[in-house]
Amino acid sequence: MSAERWAIVEIMGHRVRAGRVSEVTQFGVVMCRIEIPTPDGEGIDHVEDYGGGSIFAIAETTKEKVLERYRQYTPTYAQLARENPTIGEFDDVDDDPEFIACSSCAKALLEDDTTELEGRIFCNACAEQERATATG
Ligand SMILES: [Zn+2]
Repeated sequence: MSAERWAIVEIMGHRVRAGRVSEVTQFGVVMCRIEIPTPDGEGIDHVEDYGGGSIFAIAETTKEKVLERYRQYTPTYAQLARENPTIGEFDDVDDDPEFIACSSCAKALLEDDTTELEGRIFCNACAEQERATATG
């Protein structure tokens, strides 16, 4: 078998496909077969065959360039989920900063911005008020 040919193929109808190209005969007609790689380059996602007449241009390139092109596309959710199995856990907020509500005004506060008075958490403004009313 001849060396692999990778190309970016422009097809009638504003389609552009990038993949491994080869000539195949389908029903007696020679066609351009484009094997679209999986994003990791390890396999073939799907195969498309085009008749020579519907091809505007073929730009020969390398496998690396083809894969780079696919990586530039916004990955689908399914791809992201495959590459990062934790992506489905949107409701897991353990890594998010903890917000604490002010006991008085209920404003959401980062822990550093809170003041504790008699076991209750206040924002700094409410804490000042609490202190003032407690002493006054
Ligand atoms: Zn407050």
